[in-house]
Amino acid sequence: MQCPYCESTEIRKNGKWRGKQNHICNNCERQFIDVYDPPKGYSEKLKQECLKMYLNGIGFRGIEQVKGVHHTTIISWVKQIGEKLPDVPEEDAIPEVGELDELETFIGSKSEKLRAGVPPVEQTFQDKTKSGCGQQ
Ligand SMILES: [Zn+2]
Repeated sequence: MQCPYCESTEIRKNGKWRGKQNHICNNCERQFIDVYDPPKGYSEKLKQECLKMYLNGIGFRGIEQVKGVHHTTIISWVKQIGEKLPDVPEEDAIPEVGELDELETFIGSKSEKLRAGVPPVEQTFQDKTKSGCGQQ
């Protein structure tokens, strides 16, 4: 049997708990009883892994092939957390303010280096000349 938390098979018996065999995992030190079995036989860890794969853009059929979980089961899990995590991909796409500042600093120092090697060309200069000619 496996640890339901970390799937380690290094498990030792840890006495009885309310008449049921208690086990302790050598790997993560968590305890669980013999009959511990999540609904449908899938562990919470497996569920989380499948959902992470889904959030990373892997299709239901792809997850089914890798994890051996039927795709209808994965769809029901996604529906379960859908209300809790409605906009996860969009939130990831928005950079934080600190990152923006760093980006601007990077662009600023880069353009300074460019100016050092190339003669400065300013767009406003041409515009001024044109309006100057029109007035004459
Ligand atoms: Zn464990």
